[in-house]
Amino acid sequence: MRINKYIASCGVASRRKAEEIILEGRVKVNDKVVAELSFSINEDTDIVKVDDKEIKLSENYVYVVLNKPEGYITTVKDQFDRPSVINLLDGIKERVYPIGRLDYETSGLLILTNDGDLTYKLTHPKHEVDKTYVARVKGVPSYEEMKNFKEGLLIEDYKTAPAKINILEENTEKNYSICEIKIHEGRNRQVRKMCKAINHPVQRLKRVAMGKIRLNNVKIGEYRHLTKEEVNYLK
Ligand code: URA
Repeated sequence: MRINKYIASCGVASRRKAEEIILEGRVKVNDKVVAELSFSINEDTDIVKVDDKEIKLSENYVYVVLNKPEGYITTVKDQFDRPSVINLLDGIKERVYPIGRLDYETSGLLILTNDGDLTYKLTHPKHEVDKTYVARVKGVPSYEEMKNFKEGLLIEDYKTAPAKINILEENTEKNYSICEIKIHEGRNRQVRKMCKAINHPVQRLKRVAMGKIRLNNVKIGEYRHLTKEEVNYLK
């Protein structure tokens, strides 16, 4: 980034005023005076001082909720070069990353931010908020199977925390049902594993809420910014 832009972005002065400050020899980069306006700095590694006081980019936190389509990964890159949700964030300049993850085949609500504290808080097992999913599963779970699901299931080497499941729709002709599922934990492929454990494997999965946060009218592949109230609620 050009040095005058950097100084302005830090909130020290306007770009024009920043140029004056530079030409006056008041700016140091890594403890060397820089008086050329064309000088570029690396904002991640260089230490910039004005009048011997270090300046930093003010944190510009961004919180978005994306309606993830199926067929996207939630990491920035993977070994198979599959498309990433980051490609769907046209217009977001900040480097944001997802809070938690959704499988490649799962669609729905994904919150992305550059606020590391919030990510840490929301993914910490102690604080995790309820996540609500709508799953199309094979067959129709019985009362007994749903009871086991709710009480917690043994999956691999752990017992899942109590969860919720209820049937929204049954299609006996095509042998599937649509279930609403709420879980508090966020282990890898947890909903899929839990449904498989009660012999009703997931055919399609969509996340519809994280706590009180919903997509509202966000179309598939699009995003919206969280409101201030929503951010405060998550914090
Ligand atoms: N549980 C799953 O199995 N997959 C997801 O993407 C999210 C939760």
